[in-house]
Amino acid sequence: MGLVNVKKEWFWPGLRLPYRIDASLAEKRPIVMAAIELWNASPFVRLVPRTAERDSVVFQHDPGGCSSSIGRRGGEQVILCAAAVSVWPPCQTEAQAATATVAHEIGHALGLHHEHQRPDRDDVVVIPEALSKNDQYTIRTEARDFARPIGPYDCCSIMGYGWQRTPPKTRSPCLGAAEPLAPSLPDVLALRTTLRLWTVHQGRLFRVDTFTGERAEVVAAFSGWSGPTAPLLGRLYGFRSGLLQEIDPGLDVATRVGSRTWTDVTAMAGLGDSLFVVAGSRLQRLPLALPDSPTFSVEDWGGRVTLAALGGDLFATQGDYLYRVDPKTGSRQALGKAAWTGATSMAALRGWLYIIQNDRLHRVSSQDGSWQVLGGPAWGGDTALAPLGDYLLAFQNSRLHAVDPQSGAWQVLGPAQWAGVRTATSFYEN
Ligand SMILES: [Zn+2]
Repeated sequence: MGLVNVKKEWFWPGLRLPYRIDASLAEKRPIVMAAIELWNASPFVRLVPRTAERDSVVFQHDPGGCSSSIGRRGGEQVILCAAAVSVWPPCQTEAQAATATVAHEIGHALGLHHEHQRPDRDDVVVIPEALSKNDQYTIRTEARDFARPIGPYDCCSIMGYGWQRTPPKTRSPCLGAAEPLAPSLPDVLALRTTLRLWTVHQGRLFRVDTFTGERAEVVAAFSGWSGPTAPLLGRLYGFRSGLLQEIDPGLDVATRVGSRTWTDVTAMAGLGDSLFVVAGSRLQRLPLALPDSPTFSVEDWGGRVTLAALGGDLFATQGDYLYRVDPKTGSRQALGKAAWTGATSMAALRGWLYIIQNDRLHRVSSQDGSWQVLGGPAWGGDTALAPLGDYLLAFQNSRLHAVDPQSGAWQVLGPAQWAGVRTATSFYEN
């Protein structure tokens, strides 16, 4: 379905991409605009004219051909476009082919790698020998650290090259597939997995547009969601009607994991190959391979608990303390003073822990537990914190806030629609 960037610093918040078109492309502006419209036809992607945004793209003319970086690289980054083609498929007009080429480059900038760089591509397509010798970049399979294949191989992806659909260079099942005029639905669904904030609210599971604060319900046919959610290895985990569920963020499909019935789940985090779940006063480590057989189950985890994974460690607040928890044994060690009574949420971002407690947001050292209070609104009542790129996102008092993790300065996102939210999960952060 797509090979999508997983480097979190390369995501565009909300899949919103500010752009401008350089004067060198003035004549070809209609082609660029047509390509932008192809992506904006999806409700999940928005290219918007740049105003004051720091991170953005500029379309520039290059007679030599087209290129783009993968994902958001910081500052104004260039998409080079010829915006003209010398040869094009017989089923397309020249303008259609040129538009599709620009749409392909936009796909890179949004975070898509080439479809034929997927690790499973040799099961589907045969790389032409000339290319395999001469063009290492375009045909290598991307390292798992940088890219994740979503769903099955898509022969109609805008991110695939024409050779895989063209005889006689290949025996691929893609042979004869229609040359794409536009991003395929799987292209869009693969990108959608990078929309990263999820929350459970009033029994339903929501994905949140991290730019506007608008919500989109997912796994829409089902209610009965409750308790925390957590990401692990490209999937989201949560609880519906007491059963642990794995959600494929590309397909919005939930699948039951294991056969246990869970009650009183208060916290969950994902780390390594396991979920860490606090339920009924016990902390349990559930390896994904054997979710019904905890590696450990330790007591004394009653009351309000928060969990966060940072580096290779697990951190928790419970009772008066912040703890570092050994993910192998579940044993814990208090960090710093007994100062965390009533902590309502915790998140990890760039080496720091952030904890809301006593109406205040704290930045906390994961080394020694020392802290400083950040500014911002009074963070009382139910809260939920999640990291997002350079920012923290915080639900509180029916609203979602974007929070600067240095100063605590904050901005409200979207309408007041989140009363009682106590869980937030951002994706690909671990
Ligand atoms: Zn490309």
